[in-house]
Amino acid sequence: MRAVEVREPNAKLELVEREIPVPSHGWVRIKVEACGICHSDSLTKEGLWPGIEFPRVPGHEVAGVIDAIGDGVNGWTIGQRVGVGWHAGHCGYCRSCRRGNFFACEVSLRVSGISFDGGYAEYMVAPSEALAAIPDELSDVEAAPLMCAGITTFNSLRNSGARAGDTVAILGIGGLGHLAVQFAVKMGFRTVAIARGSDKEQLATELGAHLYIDSNKQDPAAELLKLGGASLVLATVTNGKAMSAVLGGMGVNGKFMVLGAADASLEVPPLLLITGRRSVMGWYSGTSIDSEETLSFSVLAGIRAMIEVFPLERAAEGYDRMMSGKARFRVVLKTGT
Ligand SMILES: [Zn+2]
Ligand SMILES: [Zn+2]
Repeated sequence: MRAVEVREPNAKLELVEREIPVPSHGWVRIKVEACGICHSDSLTKEGLWPGIEFPRVPGHEVAGVIDAIGDGVNGWTIGQRVGVGWHAGHCGYCRSCRRGNFFACEVSLRVSGISFDGGYAEYMVAPSEALAAIPDELSDVEAAPLMCAGITTFNSLRNSGARAGDTVAILGIGGLGHLAVQFAVKMGFRTVAIARGSDKEQLATELGAHLYIDSNKQDPAAELLKLGGASLVLATVTNGKAMSAVLGGMGVNGKFMVLGAADASLEVPPLLLITGRRSVMGWYSGTSIDSEETLSFSVLAGIRAMIEVFPLERAAEGYDRMMSGKARFRVVLKTGT
C-alpha cells in the first residue's frame, strides 16, 4: 500500500510503499478514503509528543471503511463506514478512567497517528474503541475534518454550560472557528464572531453569526459587555495576546474556554475572575462516541467544514498549506481512488 510517513523528527513527509497491516486482537483494519490534516499533526512531524517512535504515519481525522476485523471485536462489521479521531484508547483502570475522564488516561492514552500509524495511508489499523460510525449523508471528505476540528468545537460548546439564547463569542474564524460558529448558531446561542479585519465579516455572516466584531477596529471586550457580556468565549486562536484582549468581555459567571494552543501566555486579572465569578478553562477533544455525535449533529443541522482537497501523494504540499494558515479552512487528503 501507499503511505505517507515521517522517518524521523522534522523529516519531510514521504510517500512510501508498505505492507498492508493486519489487525490484531481488538483492532480493525480500515481502508482509508480520506484523512484531514490537523495542526496537531506537527506533534508527529516534529517529534514533539513524548515517547513517539519513528517512522510514523500521521493522521487523526480519518474516514474510511472497515476492511478486516481482528479477534475479540464486537459491534462492528466489515463494510461499515467509520471515522477515527485523536483519542483512540485508554487503560480503563487508572484513576482518570475510573472517573470517566478517559481523555486524561494516566496509563496508556493512545493517540491516532502518534501512538500508532494514522490515516495518511491507503490502509490503517485502529483499536475498535476508537471507531465512530459515519452517517450515509456525509461523504468521506466531509466526515474527515469533523473527526478533530469538528468534535473539538462541538464537544466544547455542548459541555460549556451555555444555554440557548446565551451570548457565545467565537474568537478566531479559521479551521476551528468556522465550525464553531456554525455549531453555536445551531445550538441556539446568540453567536458573536470575533476576528481581525473586515475580510472575515461576510463569511461569518454566511456561517450564521448574528454579530461580527472586527478586533482591529473595535475593543472586543467592550463590545461584548455592551451585549451584556458573553456567557462563553470560545478561544480558537493561537495567540495569547488576542485571547487576553477578550477576557474582559465575559459576563457574570462567564467562561473563557481555550481551544487554541497559544504560544504566548494568557494574562488573566484575578479581580476579573473573582468579582464576576468568571472562569478560564481548556477543552480537549473527546472520545469516539463524541465523534459519532458530532457527525450526527452535523447531518441534523447541515454543518460542514470548508475544505481544500489534496490527493494522498501530495500530502507534503497539503501539510504546508495547512500550516501556512492560508487554507480555507481545513485540508483533506483524498486517499481512495
Ligand atoms: Zn487534530
Ligand atoms: Zn486510564
